[in-house]
Order: sequence, then C-alpha cells, then structure tokens
Amino acid sequence: MFRKRVLITGGAGFIGSHLCRELLKNNCDVLCLDNFFTGKKENVADLIAHPYFELVRHDVIEPYYAEVDEIYNLACPASPIHYQSDPVKTVKTNVLGSVNMLNLALRNKAKILQASTSEIYGDPEIDLQHEEYWGRVNPIGIRSCYDEGKRCAETLFFDYHREHNVNIKVVRIFNTYGPYMRPDDGRVVSNFIVQALKGNDLTVYGDGSQTRSFCYISDLVTGIIKMMSHNDKFTGPINLGNPEPINMLGLADKIIELTGRKLKIVFAPLPSDDPKQRQPDISKARKELNWSATVKLEEGLKETINYFKKIL
Ligand code: NAD
Ligand code: UDP
Repeated sequence: MFRKRVLITGGAGFIGSHLCRELLKNNCDVLCLDNFFTGKKENVADLIAHPYFELVRHDVIEPYYAEVDEIYNLACPASPIHYQSDPVKTVKTNVLGSVNMLNLALRNKAKILQASTSEIYGDPEIDLQHEEYWGRVNPIGIRSCYDEGKRCAETLFFDYHREHNVNIKVVRIFNTYGPYMRPDDGRVVSNFIVQALKGNDLTVYGDGSQTRSFCYISDLVTGIIKMMSHNDKFTGPINLGNPEPINMLGLADKIIELTGRKLKIVFAPLPSDDPKQRQPDISKARKELNWSATVKLEEGLKETINYFKKIL
C-alpha cells in the first residue's frame, strides 16, 4: 500500500500529538520531530510501537534532512508563559525553523503547511477577524517574539512560494483546547480546569471582559488535514477556529459549573498587550474546505475536564 511520508515538527506537543494519531489512522508514515521544550514523550507514548511512527529529538533551528512528501510545521511553544520564557529562542524557532523546513520542502518537492495563528492579528480593531485584515501588532512588546515570529514565518512561506514555487499551505489557528494540554501549560482553559479540580480559586486576568473563541482539538485537526489535502492552488492563509466568542469571566463560570465545585474567582493583573477580543471569520474555511467547528464549548470542556481528572 502507498503510504504518504509525513513529517510533523512539534509532533509531541498538544496539537501535534493529535495530528500524529489522526495521520496514522489515515495510513500515513509519520515522522515526529520535537525538542521536547513544551512537548512530552508521554503525549505520543501510545504510538511508539506503531510500525509507521518514528519519534526523533531534533531542534528545528538546525537543518534536518529526510525524504518526505508532506511537512506540517507546528514546532513553537504556543502558551505565553512558555514562549516568553526564552523570547529570542521563540523568534529563532519561528524564523530559522521555517527556513529549515521550507528548504527541506524545496529539496523534496514536498507540500508544507504552516501552523500560523490568530496572534498575527495582534489586538484587533475589528470584531470579526477575516484573512484580509493585516492586524495590529506591537513589534517590541512581550508578545512580539511570538506574534512577529509567526508573521515573519508567513512572509517566508509566501516568499518561498513566489520565488521557488514551493507548494505551501498556511492555516491561522484560533485558541484551541482539549486533552493532552499540559496541566502547567499556562493557557486559560487548562489553568481554570486545573485550578477548579484542585479546589483553588480561578485566576481571571484583568476584569475578565476580554473575549476568545475556543475550538475543540478534534475539529481543528480535521480542518488542518482538510487544508493539507485541498487543491494545491489554494495556499491560504485560512482561519481555523470556532466563531463563538466568550469572555473570560463567562469561561470561569462555566468551568466552575461543569466541575460542580463551589469556588471563587480572583482577579490578577492583565498581561501587557493581551488582546481585548478575538473571533474568527471562517467564511473562507466553510467555502473552500466545507469545514466548520462542530463540537460545542460545553461538550469539549467536559471531555477536557475528564482528561485532567485522569492525569492529575
Ligand atoms: P505546544 O507547546 O503544546 O506544542 C509545540 C511543540 O513544539 C512542543 O512539542 C514543543 O516541544 C515543540 N517545539 C518547540 N520549539 C521547538 C523547536 N525549536 N524544535 C523542535 N520542536 C520544538 O503548543 P500547541 O498548542 O500544540 O501548538 C502547536 C502549534 O500550533 C504551534 O506552532 C502554535 O503556535 C500553533 N497554534 C496553536 C494554537 C492553540 O490554541 N493551541 C493557536 C494558534 C497557533
Ligand atoms: N487568562 C486568564 N487567566 C489565566 C490564563 C489566561 O484570565 O489563568 C486570560 C488571558 O489574559 C487572555 C485569555 O485568558 O486574555 C486567553 O489566554 P491564553 O493564554 O489562553 O491565550 P491567548 O492570550 O494567547 O489567546
């Protein structure tokens, strides 16, 4: 049987581990590359014995060579506390990592997908962010290593496409959550769930009026794979996310309710440059990929809470 040889950078992370699992189900030969900065071997431990799965410790800021047909470039810490812990490294991962993976795609004539982010829109002035919006990003702030790193990665993808005809795909992922997030990941969904399950107060940053739109992991992975297998002429960028916004106070209330605990909400300072609002316009994904998120927030949160109950 023909098996596509697929490389996934950041494959031992939260999204990457789900993607590895799904691509193995689709009969791909999966090569997972990770430096284990935020990813963990445990996330893919169930795949190690699979005959078409390989796990390699490698840092994408160094070149890498293998014969592959497709590359999913996910390597990069995604949680603010982790990407800000070594911001220079975050920029290198995004920029040098993208150059190395694009060169690999060029040598192999492989198709390459970039995991970009809603963060490239920065702190947006428009309620619903569509792909033509150029964003409002602070180039020198504490989030810039991630936001600008990802923007530069998009630039590199489109320049390799224009200059070298590399077959590229760019997806802009909005806040995604689900099982296999680390308890100490630091992002809001895992923080609130871990706090609630431990019987601690939930820490809302700022006044909690800022909004995010949360997409469940299974929906996101379906969207990413659909984009990779879609018509080669369609490069994106394309937004992938759940267009239902909720504010952080509302999210805290929902998690308190779903865990059935009597807990308080406490307020902590809002980190600088924290976006006030975020909601994806997914018309393009609906039209081009016939994709939209299907898992309701409450349903996804219940699954995620059950996962954390098991691992804590
Ligand atoms: P994660 O931190 O769980 O996963 C990132 C993975 O990349 C980890 O396994 C980490 O060890 C690995 N990594 C980091 N730097 C590396 C390097 N230099 N070399 C090799 N491996 C390296 O985060 P995630 O949520 O799974 O995010 C995966 C990708 O999706 C990231 O590129 C992120 O920017 C993007 N993204 C995620 C979200 C989200 O809500 N989860 C939203 C937008 C974009
Ligand atoms: N947040 C919060 N409490 C936490 C962690 C985060 O109120 O314990 C807020 C954070 O300030 C932001 C929102 O939740 O406004 C989403 O944060 P996250 O780090 O999950 O994602 P991002 O800011 O990258 O969208």
